Amino acid sequence: RGLVIAIDGPSGSGKSTVARTVAADISASYLDTGAMYRALTWSLLHRRIDVTDHARVASHARECALDIDTAPYAPRFAVGGVDVTQQIRGVDVTSAVSEVAANPEVRSVLIASQRHLIAQARESGKGMVAEGRDITTVVAPDADVRILITASAEERERRRRAEAGEASAASMARRDARDSQVNDFITPSEGVTLIDTTQMTLPEVVNAVLALIDE
Ligand code: C5P
Repeated sequence: RGLVIAIDGPSGSGKSTVARTVAADISASYLDTGAMYRALTWSLLHRRIDVTDHARVASHARECALDIDTAPYAPRFAVGGVDVTQQIRGVDVTSAVSEVAANPEVRSVLIASQRHLIAQARESGKGMVAEGRDITTVVAPDADVRILITASAEERERRRRAEAGEASAASMARRDARDSQVNDFITPSEGVTLIDTTQMTLPEVVNAVLALIDE
């Protein structure tokens, strides 16, 4: 059976880069659960469905065909056969995704499919590094290794600004505030290892995670 590594954390913590690098390193699959919420949000916006209409959003979540690539490098995401890899990183999707992710029926649909992908990777022996906001607590509380990656708010803003500019740093704070009403990804729950990356380089964080996997 393959190992399952669960990684949570806020935006700008660097968890995606870490998760991907670790997955490539141990030849495991990589699951970006945020990309699933983003792809669904793209589909809703594309169909001009009001994201605050919880019943319609939930019914679209049930019928929408999300195609999630679990390759650690340059994974592709598609909805109903349309490649949306670029579009899901755009400002329209980023500003609407928290509203969609706060919908409990949306969460139950996506969580079921995440659990299915994780179970497949475990069974196949390949293993998986899955990252998001609720992986250590809700999606895979039974993971072999569970990690919460944080950094100070100042450092996360600095990283985000360096990556994508001023405006995106401000919206990041708003998104984290909204998302933390749904899941606590700041306090590690029982059995979850906290890694504060404020003063760490990427290779140091990757090594810290690999050390936990080897334990
Ligand atoms: O990680 P990323 O920034 O791509 O996530 C996009 C959004 O998806 C988050 O802001 C959050 O609203 C939602 N999300 C979630 N649960 C997860 C992963 C992401 O609610 N496990």
